Amino acid sequence: MEKILLKNTENADSADIDGYIKTGGYKGIPKAFKLKPSDIIEEIKKSGLRGRGGAGFPTGMKWSIAAADSKFPKYLVCNADEGEPGTFKDRHILEKNPHLLIEGMVISGFALGSEYGYIYLRGEYPHAKDILEKAIRQAYEKKFLGKGILGGKIKFHLAVYQGAGAYICGEETALIESLEGRRGHPRLKPPFPVNAGAWKMPTIVNNVETLSNVPYIIDAGAGAYSKIGSKDCPGTKLFSVSGCVEKPGVYELPMGISLREIIYTHAGGIRGGKKIKAVIPGGISTPVLPVDKIDCPMDFISIQKYGSMLGSGAVIVMDESVCMVKVAHRSMKFFEHESCGKCIPCREGTSWLEKILQRIEHGKGREDDLGLLSGIAETMLGKTFCQLGDGAACAMQSMLKHFRGEFEEHIKRKSKCQSSNAKKE
Ligand code: SF4
Repeated sequence: MEKILLKNTENADSADIDGYIKTGGYKGIPKAFKLKPSDIIEEIKKSGLRGRGGAGFPTGMKWSIAAADSKFPKYLVCNADEGEPGTFKDRHILEKNPHLLIEGMVISGFALGSEYGYIYLRGEYPHAKDILEKAIRQAYEKKFLGKGILGGKIKFHLAVYQGAGAYICGEETALIESLEGRRGHPRLKPPFPVNAGAWKMPTIVNNVETLSNVPYIIDAGAGAYSKIGSKDCPGTKLFSVSGCVEKPGVYELPMGISLREIIYTHAGGIRGGKKIKAVIPGGISTPVLPVDKIDCPMDFISIQKYGSMLGSGAVIVMDESVCMVKVAHRSMKFFEHESCGKCIPCREGTSWLEKILQRIEHGKGREDDLGLLSGIAETMLGKTFCQLGDGAACAMQSMLKHFRGEFEEHIKRKSKCQSSNAKKE
């Protein structure tokens, strides 16, 4: 399969502008500038590209709403705040292929009628910041960014804005609040950012991986792109594979590939020849899948039939030695820590889930604890201000659904977890 996002990233000079141009980079900009902005949006629609941040919303449709809004200026914001545990795929593009993202943003900005772009970067990515800033300087020098791109009249300015390490700033309205200099709290929707985003102007927020697909679609055409991957979700997908596998890493594979193939063909199978127990397929806010579901196709639509979500494509693999109570506790501790505290079901719910799981894990669980856990998760679902609360509740429910016996065993035993995974820590 031809690589789109990680093409040439094994080359030592892949992050340098000359290295990028040498391998065919920046060809998409002159091609795009010959088209009308509306034609570019049509091409993106035809390609079937869906947002790679987690929701899988059709990109062309999102663009057309912002483009139709007559307010000006418009902003293009790249969401590079990848904070979902298990996710490290965007970092690969930022560090190894930054000019692909810049090229994608210039083309996208032209299509949307935007002259200003921001890359909102995760606070914990200082190395990526240095690489990105150097790449942006190079792109200005070679006139791929700035006032007169390629000597013409089109302009697009781009800057990096670094977050401060809050998970919630990956949510687009919290990201915009933070970009404007305020605390990263999600906003009430509607209005949606496409009409009233940064500084109340039309704003498109797209993920790094989404925008990095744009040069290929413009250069090779929507037809070529839509032939890759699955029918409803074309293209390739970056999967960051971690946990109990022989070869953890970032893999660019066609959408719709099965979890089994990702784990056994690409990530080298289970470490130490152990048996697989469970997989979190798209980062910890996506429901866990037990071993009998690992043949599920990994795309935004197909995986729903298996009871989970593609999320960011962060595949976390657990073998037979992993304690699911500990996994649940760790996950809820993360959500409790990252809850912004704006709404009660999430602020209190994540805290209660964490406390109950802690006592179960430490052999102090009570008989009615499992009922309490599912009741709290049920109360949170659909009643929180943003997706963080829903993500925590869904993850909790899925662990209880598939591994209830393990939770019951912990409560009955009235001692600390005995699994080999727990003993190590
Ligand atoms: S769901 Fe959680 S993170 Fe989202 S607004 Fe409410 S408290 Fe904040």
